[in-house]
Amino acid sequence: GPPPSRPVESLSVADLFIAVKTTRPNHRPRLDLLLETWMSRNPQQTYVFTDGDDDKLKRMGGHLINTNCSASHSRQALSCKMAQEYSVFLNSGKKWFCHVDDDNYVNVGSLVKLLSQFRHTQDVYLGRPSLERPIQATERLGSTHQKEVRFWFATGGAGFCLSRGLALKMSPWASDGAFMVTAEQIRLPDDCTVGYIVEALLGVGLTRSPLFHSHLENLGLVSEIHHQVTLSYGTVEGSRNTVNVRGPFTKNEDPTRFKSVHCLLYPDTAWCPPGPRT
Ligand code: UDP
Ligand code: MN
Repeated sequence: GPPPSRPVESLSVADLFIAVKTTRPNHRPRLDLLLETWMSRNPQQTYVFTDGDDDKLKRMGGHLINTNCSASHSRQALSCKMAQEYSVFLNSGKKWFCHVDDDNYVNVGSLVKLLSQFRHTQDVYLGRPSLERPIQATERLGSTHQKEVRFWFATGGAGFCLSRGLALKMSPWASDGAFMVTAEQIRLPDDCTVGYIVEALLGVGLTRSPLFHSHLENLGLVSEIHHQVTLSYGTVEGSRNTVNVRGPFTKNEDPTRFKSVHCLLYPDTAWCPPGPRT
């Protein structure tokens, strides 16, 4: 059944560490939109992990982290970024680590509400599985030993969170270069590697939440936008896959719908048109 909606821990936004994964070519087309919308409300909570410098984003200071990971979509490049997200989180002392992509909108208020239903000292891995069944992979231990493993993982494109308690236990496989070694052992992308460490190595199950959304699902079917934790956008066979929100911006002005979502959540935003007066 659904998790209890009663908070077990009093939590504030200051307890969150939100890592946004991006790449230099996405700064203008994707990251700027996030900076204008949800990130503008929570600059202290968000850290951007990228692979190239950006003079236009100097004002972000230490919150824009150039990982110097290779600017490619290779498994190594992506696990290099995830390893740094993990390490900066551990050093931050925050209670919760959340990872999102640069095509995610994060409703930070909803996220705080959701996380407050768990204890950050316990083992919590929260997100949306991207597949209908657990992924199967070959674990390579040494040059001759191989073993089939099955585990669930939360899709990185919908965002996922880890409690500090669990993140600390992941350390032998995720700290100081270990994450990249682990990713190579299993030969899977960064988000699968997190699932492998949590489920297969630590025996902690993924807690599913329907409030996380990637563009792998039909976003037009998402209702109660203000309750959702993450949203996304994409294209399928040339047509846009976005959430359905009426105004205030047209689809031409706001093709991702993120500006309209932001005005729905924060109508007091300076650039949001004033709502109907009654
Ligand atoms: N990304 C990256 N390096 C790359 C390409 C993509 O770090 O060379 C990041 C990108 O910024 C995004 C995530 O990986 O946060 C997923 O990329 P994208 O949305 O383009 O692809 P998807 O996997 O969702 O189809
Ligand atoms: Mn994407």
